[in-house]
Amino acid sequence: MNVRNTSHLADLSPFELKDELIKLAGSDTNRLMLNAGRGNPNFLATIPRHGFWQLGLFAMIESERSFSYLAEGVGGFPRRIGIEERFDLFARINRDVPGVKFLSSAVSFVRDQLGLNGGDFIYEMCEGILACSYPVPDRMLRLTEKIVKQYIRKEMIGSHPFVGDFDLYAVEGGTAAMTYLFNSMKTNHLLKAGDVIALGKPIFTPYIEIPELSEYGLTELSIDADPAGGWQYSTKELDKLRDPKVKAFFLVNPSNPPSVRVSDESLEYLASIVKDRPDLILLTDDVYGTFADNFVSLFAMCPRNTLLVYSYSKYFGATGWRLGVIATHKSNVFDEKIAQLPQELKDGLNQRYASITTEPEKLPFIDRIVADSRTVALNHTAGLSTPQQVQMVLFSLFSLMDTAESYKNAMKRLIRRRKAALYRGMGAVPEAVDENVVDYYTLLDVEQMSRAVGPDFVKWLLASIQPHELLFRLAEEAGVVLLPGKGFGTVHPSGRVSLANLNEEDYVKIGRCVRELRDEYLERYQQLDSKNTQKS
Ligand SMILES: *Cc1c(COP(=O)(O)O)cnc(C)c1O
Repeated sequence: MNVRNTSHLADLSPFELKDELIKLAGSDTNRLMLNAGRGNPNFLATIPRHGFWQLGLFAMIESERSFSYLAEGVGGFPRRIGIEERFDLFARINRDVPGVKFLSSAVSFVRDQLGLNGGDFIYEMCEGILACSYPVPDRMLRLTEKIVKQYIRKEMIGSHPFVGDFDLYAVEGGTAAMTYLFNSMKTNHLLKAGDVIALGKPIFTPYIEIPELSEYGLTELSIDADPAGGWQYSTKELDKLRDPKVKAFFLVNPSNPPSVRVSDESLEYLASIVKDRPDLILLTDDVYGTFADNFVSLFAMCPRNTLLVYSYSKYFGATGWRLGVIATHKSNVFDEKIAQLPQELKDGLNQRYASITTEPEKLPFIDRIVADSRTVALNHTAGLSTPQQVQMVLFSLFSLMDTAESYKNAMKRLIRRRKAALYRGMGAVPEAVDENVVDYYTLLDVEQMSRAVGPDFVKWLLASIQPHELLFRLAEEAGVVLLPGKGFGTVHPSGRVSLANLNEEDYVKIGRCVRELRDEYLERYQQLDSKNTQKS
C-alpha cells in the first residue's frame, strides 16, 4: 500500500493544502477530478440577474434619450421627471422578456410594501447601473440601504424582538468586511496588541490566521464546538467569555465547516453572558444564515455589542460579484468605547478624521470604517461600485418578494439530496437531521466514521495514520479533493466535503471512494489483529 510521508504538510493552511491536493488529484489525466474542497457554489440565482440586465437596457434608453451626440457614442444622465411612466411603458412592451416581470413587481413592492417612492427608486437604480457618479452617500446609496436593511431584517432578525435601528455599509464581500473591520478596530483602539480574542471553532481559516498576524498581535482563545453534541458550544466553553481579559468573540454562524447554526439555547446563554459582560465585542459572520430556517443572528440577540457581516456570495451563487454588508446598531458599544478612550488617544483620532467632518468626535464607528477603507484622505471615493449595489438590491428584493420561500426551499432540497447521495455512496445513513443543521458542508470525522467498528480500531487508526494521509490518498488514488477539518480548528482528523459545488452523482462517487479507503484500513487492522491473536 501507498504510504507517503506527509508529516511536513501538517502545518500548511487548508487553502495551501488544497493546492497540493488538486495537483495530485489532477495528475491522472484519464480520470475526472472530483473537487469537493471548494466552497464556491455551482448554482446561481437567475431571476434577479435577468432583472439586472433588463434594468441595464432600460437605463441605456434613459441615457440616450437625453442627449444629442448619439452617433458619436455620447449619452447623458437619466432624467428623474417622468421616469416611472417611461419604465411602465418599457415593462409593458417587454413583458414577455425574462426579468421584466420581476423588475415591475419589484417596483410595485418597493412602492406598496416598503412605502418608498417608485420614481426615486427607478432613478437610483438607473444612475447606479449606468455607474456615471461616485457612490453618494459613500457608505451606501440612500434607498439601497433602506431596501437591503429590510432583507437583513427578514433573514437575520426575523420575528425576534428588535428595538431601534441599524446602519449598513456595503462592501466587496464578507472577506472585505473582515479586512475593514479588523483594521478599524485596531485604528480606533477597540483591539490592541496583547488583547485576548475568543474564536468559536471550527471556523473559516482566515479568522484563525488574521489575529495571528504580527500587525495585530492578538492572543487567541478557542471556544470549541462539541462534535458529539451536534457541534454546539457547551455552556462550559461559552463561560470562557466571562473572563474580562477576553475582549472579543468571533463567530461564524452557521459554522464553516460543520455547517450548524448556534442553537436557540446557546444564543440565549450567550446573551446572558453579554448581560454580565456589557463591554464584550461580538463579531458574527452569518454568510450561511440564509440557508437555515427561521435563522436568528447573534446581532438580533445582542445588537449593541455585535458587528454583523453578511455576504451574498453563497446564497445567490455570486462570489464573483463581491457583495457583502457590515451592520451596526445605531446605539452600540463601539461608539461608547471610542468616547471613553483616554483624551490623548481621542485627540489622535479626532485629527485622523478631521478632514471628513467638523465634529470628528461624533463620527460613528461604522463611518470610521468607511473612511479607513480609503485611508481617510480618499474618503470621497469610498463605497461599493454602484452597479454592485444595484445587483445587491435586486438579490434582496428577490428574497423579500418570495413569500413562499421557494428559492430557499429549492436551495435546501438541492443540498440535502447531495448529502443523501454522499452517504448512499458510503453505504451509510446520514445522522438524523437536527433543526440546526444547514449542510452547506459536511464533515467526515475519522473517529465518528470508524466508531461502529469498535474503539480499538479507532485507536489503532488514529495512531497509525499520518497527518492528512487519508486526504492525500483520496486525492492521489481517487482524484477526490476534500479539505482537512483540522485546519479549521476541529479536534479530530476529518475531511470537509462541500455540498455546494458538485452534482449529485459526483457525491455518490466520492462516498464510494471514502468507503473503499476505510475498508482497506479495516482489512489491514483485521490482519494485524489476527496475527496478534495467533502470537498470544
Ligand atoms: C465563503 C465565506 C465567506 C465569503 O466571503 P466573500 O468575500 O463574501 O466571498 C465569508 N465567510 C465565510 C465563513 C465563508 O465561508
